[in-house]
Amino acid sequence: MSSALLNSNAVKAQAKRLGFVACGLAPAEPVAEPFAAHLRRWLSLGYCADMDYMRRNVDKRLDPRLLMPGVRTIVSLAMNFMPARFQPAISLYAQGKDYHDVLRERMFRLMADMGLEGRAFVDTAPVLERYWAWRSGVGVIAGPGGFISVPNCGPTVFLGELFLTEEADKYDSPLPAPPLGECLIAAKNTCQFNEIEALPQRGSGEGAFCPALTPEGLDARRCISYQTIEHRGPLPDGFRLHQTFYGCDRCLRATPGFAEAKPTEEPDFQPTDALLEMTPDDWFSLTVEQYRSLFKGSAVKRAKYEGLMRNIACWLRK
Ligand code: SF4
Repeated sequence: MSSALLNSNAVKAQAKRLGFVACGLAPAEPVAEPFAAHLRRWLSLGYCADMDYMRRNVDKRLDPRLLMPGVRTIVSLAMNFMPARFQPAISLYAQGKDYHDVLRERMFRLMADMGLEGRAFVDTAPVLERYWAWRSGVGVIAGPGGFISVPNCGPTVFLGELFLTEEADKYDSPLPAPPLGECLIAAKNTCQFNEIEALPQRGSGEGAFCPALTPEGLDARRCISYQTIEHRGPLPDGFRLHQTFYGCDRCLRATPGFAEAKPTEEPDFQPTDALLEMTPDDWFSLTVEQYRSLFKGSAVKRAKYEGLMRNIACWLRK
């Protein structure tokens, strides 16, 4: 490792040239206690459903130095995924190519361009992504879903982190956050959660517009995104899907800053014409071969063919 300090401005400038809408640097220290306590409480309530990987490596998730010994700097990066056009049955983030591949490739390029040593993480390791994006000033934590909203871009961003052994010449601070009340009012005015009315309601008061969203965080067991993407096996009794059958954008759309979201110029995040042209009848009769061709290199494959057809059947029943 060289003794020279990492030039933070140079890293940010190169990140911008590579298509990232925001980049911030934070020292690799343990996660601040209020956030750590929130994670522990969230896990103790069982809100991670059967995403068992969330229960593993909590110590590493809360201290990046345990995940990568020698790490001194965390570079948080955000890339806009807002597509110019979209297939309305599928969540906005999954219209194009799998973001894991797109971001990782771009992050490796950033490290190579800058001669950096370290590791690149995109949603695949015990890293509190939103915490590091907040801590490094990439965006504010906004809306009832706790998204990262990036100034002049909004919450339609993928996040990635570089863990580097170099110390930086300058670290960023969190941005001033808007009052929580504004987020809740925006959410209340824009959402009708008919899809999940059949599930037992949770929470009450101004912010209780989706039963999956609680004061202690998102209860994945009641969340459409979790049920339609991560969950294997039958959907819960009474589950209804009115809009999307893969993921759910309601709390994203309700996040302050969403109105600022402008379409990305990244071709990898745009849907194909074939995806845009799919109709309910086409979805009903989707074959395995069509599924493979339609979602080649797409994050939608996470649900597998069987999971997608389960969702489509529920969605068509309305
Ligand atoms: S993704 Fe949809 S179901 Fe899940 S918390 Fe957000 S609004 Fe509720």
